[in-house]
Amino acid sequence: MARVRHEDGGAGRSKVASVDRGLLRTEREESAIEEASLRPRTMDEYIGQSALKRKLRVFVDAAKQRGEPLDHVLLHGPPGLGKTTMAQILANELGVRIHITSGPAVEHKGVLAGHLTALEAGDVLFIDEIHRLTPVVEESLYSAMEDGRIDLPVGEGNRARTMPFSLAPFTLVGATTRTALLGAPLRERFQIVEGLEYYADAELAEIVQRTARILKFTATDAGAAEIGRRSRGTPRIANRLTRRVRDFAQVRGRASIDRDDAQYGLGELGIDPEGLDAIDRRVLTAIVDLFDGGPVGIDALAATLSEPRDTLEDVYEPFLLQRGFLIRTPRGRQVTRKALAHLGRSTASGGGGDQGELPL
Ligand code: ADP
Repeated sequence: MARVRHEDGGAGRSKVASVDRGLLRTEREESAIEEASLRPRTMDEYIGQSALKRKLRVFVDAAKQRGEPLDHVLLHGPPGLGKTTMAQILANELGVRIHITSGPAVEHKGVLAGHLTALEAGDVLFIDEIHRLTPVVEESLYSAMEDGRIDLPVGEGNRARTMPFSLAPFTLVGATTRTALLGAPLRERFQIVEGLEYYADAELAEIVQRTARILKFTATDAGAAEIGRRSRGTPRIANRLTRRVRDFAQVRGRASIDRDDAQYGLGELGIDPEGLDAIDRRVLTAIVDLFDGGPVGIDALAATLSEPRDTLEDVYEPFLLQRGFLIRTPRGRQVTRKALAHLGRSTASGGGGDQGELPL
């Protein structure tokens, strides 16, 4: 198994996460371990994304045959689809260590230099939210990626200068929610650029079954299918809903999660039959009631909902677009007939005043 090192950037301390059991742990550590135990560790355990897995397997095998590090990889896609998990699997399959950090944690060039100089030959450096690196840090990453070199400051005052430092050959795995957020100079330095897709309902049902098993509970096929179908195409959500539905089922004295338990638990959690949660419905309702169904610009919508624009664009909008509740026009976002039907409305025109309250 790949050794996982979580780098905390700022203070230069690092914590090696071990997954051995039997020692006393705090509750928080326990839940972190549970989270870690849910993470697939190999390509075979990683459910779905078959085209991506097929390609990455070839690239990993080819790099191993040549005895070279894997080329730099950029993974993009909405949150919770398995980018971090895939980075860990890549390291695992390559038989190397992974160092984990994120764009906001790499506050300045010194932090980046600390990460890079700690890498051993072949190691993977994973930078989550890589689009959030500052321009200065991003620029010093270029020479590291291209020439395996970083300029380190030496001396002080008017004798200060920089000295090139040769790095061990390594693989950078970057993750971002949208490639459009990355500037071309950084994007072009990744030789492998791959997107993750929303998962199919059947794949999510499989993830629910697997998670229930790891949590030492069971789900019937119908129960797992119901949770999978309402998980917004996202494994992280499938895992969260499985945990919570298990709580409801357990307290109701059920031995396993059946469709009825799933429907009950999901209903209590405010997840509707299409898998939309309260915020999804607020987004659609606001467009219908306050903007006559759209089109409305993302900034106006974000201000109305008091939600950060990034969250709307990264988390809510992609799913609503993918499921056909929303369309993007040159003038902004617009709800579809499907959204109106789902909200129990017949038409988007004519304003919201006479349309009554929505069944939220
Ligand atoms: P991202 O980095 O894209 O936000 P993560 O890699 O953190 O997403 O994945 C979120 C959670 O979903 C993980 O903890 C893992 O348990 C689960 N997960 C992700 N992808 C898969 C998959 N293909 N099969 C099973 N579980 C998955």
